[in-house]
Amino acid sequence: MTTRPAGSPLTRPLPSVDEDTKLFWDFCKRHELRVQKCTKCGNFHYPPSAFCPHCSNITSEWVKLSGEGKVYSFVIVRREYHPAFESQLPYVVAIIETSEGVRMLSNVVGCKPEEVKIDMPVEVTWDDITPEFSLPKFKPAS
Ligand SMILES: [Zn+2]
Repeated sequence: MTTRPAGSPLTRPLPSVDEDTKLFWDFCKRHELRVQKCTKCGNFHYPPSAFCPHCSNITSEWVKLSGEGKVYSFVIVRREYHPAFESQLPYVVAIIETSEGVRMLSNVVGCKPEEVKIDMPVEVTWDDITPEFSLPKFKPAS
């Protein structure tokens, strides 16, 4: 368990941004789920990177995803790993496979953790955690 000095604000960790990830987070801020698609081999690659992990090509386009997918794998977190998330316990950390085949680490929200199942259809929803950051999360598909 992490301890913090008395009286210090309880702040959640934020995504780290670098030149490879900046565009991804800028799109998220606009509630657009976009990932890189290699202009040479056509494969999606995520997380963002300067080159394609499939063919090492350095050019890509940012393609908007449908926002639909399914739960590929998940865990229910029941203990505190960071004090900023204690109030959210229990919560679901999941690997979502989008309908385009991209696997993303995220959360499933909008239902009880016990209701989450493998292959459950989900759709993106946005968690505006700060004015600068919106996190793509997934809820049961309507
Ligand atoms: Zn490629």
